[in-house]
Amino acid sequence: MSGFPKTCALFILAFLSLTSAAETMNTREFQELIREIHQLNRVDPRLAEKMAGPAKAFAAENDNLADRIWLAAAMAPCNAITRGYQPTRRRMLKMVVAASQSLEAAYLVPFLRMHIADLAIRHGDFEFAFRQLLDGLRWIEPGTPPFIRLKSMELAALLNLEAGYPFDALLLISQVEQMGGWRDSRARRGFQLLKCEAYGETGDYNRMGAVLDEMALEFTPDTDPGVIDSYWIQKTWHALYLLSKNRAREFLETARERGRHQAAGIQKAEVLLLDAILLDLEKASPEMVTERLQEARDEYRAVGLPVRHAELIHRFLQMPNADPAGNSRVPFLRSLQDVAYGGENRLADVRALAAWIELEGSVEGSMPDRVVEQFRQLSRNLEQFRRDFGALQVEWALKSTVLLPYSPVQDHHPILGEDYLLVLLLVCVVIFLYLLMRMRMQRHLNLKLAESFQKAREAELRAEQSNQLKTQFLANVSHEIKTPMSGLVGMASLLDELVTDPKQRQYLSTIRTCSQNLLVLMNDLLDLGRIESGRLEIEQVPFNVRKMVDYCLRIVEESAVIKGLELDGQVRPVVPGTIVGDSTRIGQIMTNLLHNAVKFTGHGSVLLNVDYEHLSEESGTLIIHVRDTGIGIPPENLQTVFEPFSRIENHPERKSTGSGLGLAICKRLVELMGGTIGVESELNKGTTFTVSLPAKSE
Ligand code: ADP
Repeated sequence: MSGFPKTCALFILAFLSLTSAAETMNTREFQELIREIHQLNRVDPRLAEKMAGPAKAFAAENDNLADRIWLAAAMAPCNAITRGYQPTRRRMLKMVVAASQSLEAAYLVPFLRMHIADLAIRHGDFEFAFRQLLDGLRWIEPGTPPFIRLKSMELAALLNLEAGYPFDALLLISQVEQMGGWRDSRARRGFQLLKCEAYGETGDYNRMGAVLDEMALEFTPDTDPGVIDSYWIQKTWHALYLLSKNRAREFLETARERGRHQAAGIQKAEVLLLDAILLDLEKASPEMVTERLQEARDEYRAVGLPVRHAELIHRFLQMPNADPAGNSRVPFLRSLQDVAYGGENRLADVRALAAWIELEGSVEGSMPDRVVEQFRQLSRNLEQFRRDFGALQVEWALKSTVLLPYSPVQDHHPILGEDYLLVLLLVCVVIFLYLLMRMRMQRHLNLKLAESFQKAREAELRAEQSNQLKTQFLANVSHEIKTPMSGLVGMASLLDELVTDPKQRQYLSTIRTCSQNLLVLMNDLLDLGRIESGRLEIEQVPFNVRKMVDYCLRIVEESAVIKGLELDGQVRPVVPGTIVGDSTRIGQIMTNLLHNAVKFTGHGSVLLNVDYEHLSEESGTLIIHVRDTGIGIPPENLQTVFEPFSRIENHPERKSTGSGLGLAICKRLVELMGGTIGVESELNKGTTFTVSLPAKSE
């Protein structure tokens, strides 16, 4: 072909311009470029558009523009070959390999490897094709589009079929079927056509017919015309296998009619070859058959498929049902001989040589030694080919598992299913054991908890009992001491009137003070004992608040005067005249607070303030404030002053402090009456105690 060097140069130019423009192009420009590439190849623009189909589909799935350009560039030589240009294989392969090596995206590599393999299959270099496919497998990863996986399988099937292993091809096709699908209806038809051929080659004409019927049922107005052409060609082969010459002619005419518009192409070559076969069976002259065979051979060469020509002639000559006596065979053997490929294709070489030997042998009846030797050598080569190809088949079978993960069928694999069951069972057992252990541990913990709870309860009871015993003991002892103590105080008072000697009077006064203090302590202890044992009852009797305030002030008046303190009591007018409550206990609280105030105030004043908050007409809250200007209480002791026996020892003026029971009794009494007691204090500034008691007015 004269334009070939020019075509190559244009390819390379297009290639370079594409790579440099890759960064800045948009989708529209990309489509235009594809068109341009094909126009450079002098392909009809409509066909170019069609051929750009796979590239476009791929581009739609992949956003990276640079990848698209590489893809288009890589596809160009393949498409050119399909459409009848025949550049040398090595050159084309070099271009495709270069494109594949420059790819940025790993998933494009298997795609391009497949194209290389496709080219190699067309040229009969089956081992090289297989190696390319195997190399492509290395790049298949979870993200690889499923159609690339299916395409690999399809090519492997085609490879096996062309290399004379139709059963292996069928096996691969059935694997694709098991994988659960075809990338689209076009791919499905591609596999169906392959299946037809493979069944034809294995002699299973029934199944071949069934596939053809199935295909015909699925045709739609959108079906690719190329697929329909191939369908009619397969129909012709089927009729030939069944020795139905008339039907074969009928189908072939349909195919020829349909494919008339094609300038060059595989279908055209196939039609010519089949025409030659039919002419032969129809007993046409050998010249006519030869002429047709030559046309077919040229066409096959034009589309880069010389091996297929040899392959199909071989198939025809070996057809078990064919009527060899009905044809001269000579034109076929000559045509077969014609495709010897100079050592590049071992299979084609052997077949061509076999044809030559048969031809020479049958024509001249003798066979030169040189030819026999050559034949032996080639047979050895063929043996080697079968071994190498077999090894590649095994390698493919091992590696092709990477093509399967997309398969939904795999989920239902019986062994896998059993594995899942086993794993599920194991997981259940582990969960069960874990739950059992947890239950046991929980039970153990609960028992321990119950045990320690019981112990704590017992200890609490014991502590309560011993506390009660202690209080009871104190109360009893206090009571026992109180009676003689009262006697002692009484007697001391009587003696006071009789004794006149100043020294003796001083001693007597000390006795009186000490015994009175002791009496107060006894009373306090008795009160605390009664409160803690729950034996103290609160009365509800009407009493005059103002009188009670006067009484309490009088009790502490003497001590205040001695200390030079100002003592005052104020009852706000809002306080009712009479309220209902336990006057004794309220008085006790007031006195106690006033006592403390006087006791812990060196100079200044002590003020008793009584207020009343009406909640309703009859009920309200009696509020008592006892305010002094004394030494105050340190902030850290404010929380503990109401606890029994709490004494603060950090001030010289606290020397004279008492038992530490007064405030504790006050708090308990207030709480028994349903009220609250609180304290605010500032060191060396003063203290205020506030008591709030619910009190009904009358
Ligand atoms: P005591 O019988 O010792 O007075 P209390 O229970 O009445 O016991 O008081 C406990 C402690 O609280 C006292 O020892 C004293 O240190 C402190 N306290 C009570 N009232 C006042 C006050 N008005 N000013 C300063 N400290 C006070």
